[in-house]
Amino acid sequence: VIRIRKPAIGPGILASEGRPEMNRHCFAYEADSDSYDRGTAQFTFDSKIYGHSSVKKMLIEAQHGKCCFCESKITHVQYGDVEHFRPKAGYRQHPEDPLGRPGYYWLAYEWRNLYLACQLCNQRFKRNMFPLKDATHRCLNHRGDLTKEQPLFIDPGIMDPEAHIEFSREQVKARNGSLEGKATIFGLDLEREPLRERRSDWYQALKRIKQIALGHPDPEERQEARAFLDEMSKDTAEYSSMVRCLMRQT
Ligand SMILES: [Zn+2]
Repeated sequence: VIRIRKPAIGPGILASEGRPEMNRHCFAYEADSDSYDRGTAQFTFDSKIYGHSSVKKMLIEAQHGKCCFCESKITHVQYGDVEHFRPKAGYRQHPEDPLGRPGYYWLAYEWRNLYLACQLCNQRFKRNMFPLKDATHRCLNHRGDLTKEQPLFIDPGIMDPEAHIEFSREQVKARNGSLEGKATIFGLDLEREPLRERRSDWYQALKRIKQIALGHPDPEERQEARAFLDEMSKDTAEYSSMVRCLMRQT
């Protein structure tokens, strides 16, 4: 997980079409909040708005084509999902909890709430999970105060994930016991086997190159290896947070 810097202003469609939708939802909620709280009335969301190609394009650029959680390059093998950081249609504090209703419906078309995620992170692991440090501070509808919420998942658009998550070899760990780090690793299962295997292959390759950068007798070889490692430590590269940890190790 790395810090994501999205442009301050999102794609026009979120304002031109998303905002009227949001207003309609808030109005509907005001008119019959009990039914929405019970889940007998439910909002329908228009994926053609939040998942519009202009939204995806801007997210792909800001995230260098990588999943906002696992940092896998996704755009060359799949389209990727537009993920709602705060889930739009219901939430869970714990995986076994019933779905809390109505969810963060007023953020369905909100630029700050949108990221690009791989299908595994989004559909299989995160889904409606949105744990808070103190669940009694949860914002239950559009009248609530979001600033009171302390999400346990790292919001890569406003927090520095690398202050909470680090790597030892290819293994991901919470930095200094960070609660947000632990919740994000566990909630998104960032240690899942296929992902770990992929990071491990990359780690082994880069470790060899680091040895060349440090110890090869030919200065040109050393220089070339260093330049490659610098490139792979940049945000644009896959698993760059792991690579940066490897580079810091002596
Ligand atoms: Zn992912």
